[in-house]
Amino acid sequence: MTLSIYQNIGLKRVVNASGRVTKLGVSTISDKVAVAAVEGASSYVVIDDLIDRAGELIAEHTGAEGACVTSCASAALALSIAGLVTRGQWTAVYKLPDPCGAANEVVLQKGHSIDFGAPIQTMIRLGGGCPVECGQANEVHPEDIEEAITDKTVCLLYVKSHHCVQKGMVDIETMRDIAHAHNLPFVMDCAAEEDFRKYIALGADIVCYSGAKALEATTSGFMCGKREYAEWAKRQYHGVGRAMKVGKEQIMGLLAALDQYEARDHAAEVEVNVAKIDWLVSEINKIRGLHAEKIQDEAGRAIFRCRITFDSEAPVGLTMEQVNEKLVSGDPIVWARTEFLNLGKIDFDPRPMLEGDKELIVEVLKQIMEG
Ligand SMILES: *Cc1c(COP(=O)(O)O)cnc(C)c1O
Repeated sequence: MTLSIYQNIGLKRVVNASGRVTKLGVSTISDKVAVAAVEGASSYVVIDDLIDRAGELIAEHTGAEGACVTSCASAALALSIAGLVTRGQWTAVYKLPDPCGAANEVVLQKGHSIDFGAPIQTMIRLGGGCPVECGQANEVHPEDIEEAITDKTVCLLYVKSHHCVQKGMVDIETMRDIAHAHNLPFVMDCAAEEDFRKYIALGADIVCYSGAKALEATTSGFMCGKREYAEWAKRQYHGVGRAMKVGKEQIMGLLAALDQYEARDHAAEVEVNVAKIDWLVSEINKIRGLHAEKIQDEAGRAIFRCRITFDSEAPVGLTMEQVNEKLVSGDPIVWARTEFLNLGKIDFDPRPMLEGDKELIVEVLKQIMEG
């Protein structure tokens, strides 16, 4: 078998059964996206013009007035906040990350104050913002949001993610209406969402997306929304945004992925993934000591996973933590989802699995369970 480019520099092969996660490289690109990235990297262009044109094309794909292409969703958040704090004024742009006394408070619900690999609060601060959490971790009321708004508030931020507390939070429409009643922009972090039009159509003023997650693009991201906010975000490339530079090859890969996304048959992709899960469930259930079942994503997306637990004949002395330890220390590494490991559950996500991966997972689980 031929070695991968990563094995050639001495790293282990990884079976990604976790999802589009940064710690494993998020996603893989299609040939069409790869060609666009290589062609983009192989000649010159006026970068400010490319950023403007990419913004127009992203706006067409999202139904927004404008957009700003970024290096990732985190950068989209930081540059959006920077735009709102500076209101696009050059003197303020050059002074960031110091907001120099400008209004900079970003109100978010406490159950949305997540860590997605880095704290969302850090992205707010990078843009000169000051995060203001409201309510409690498991319960937020519209009044909590109202009371957090001051004359230093620049926007309300809603985080749409499976990482967030799902119960007890104020919903999108209510938070949007509160923002608009106070003449404040309503900003959304939709990094891993799969619908690129929905939240703009719902009236969000800024929506931030990752390019490498649902779109399966080169490492990239974008903010889309009101034209003025997109222009303010773009100006940051001559300030703090320089440290979040997005390359021409990343941008061309993203644009190709946006075209490709509209042509993709998403229902057929879900079916292929469900078939992988059904196969995994039936094969893993043949292994003595393990029970497997098909489950759906906690945030309600059309994502199905295979969940394993010990069945009644669980081998004495073996814990799920130890099973996972063996999965991640083998060669190849098998990286599953472990959010519920403390409850004795390991989940396998079929979307990032490559050819031969599901067979390998079953083989490795058999070896672990048979000692
Ligand atoms: C992944 C994620 C991010 C960060 O996206 P990057 O493109 O990796 O910067 C931000 N917010 C949420 C909710 C995420 O899931």
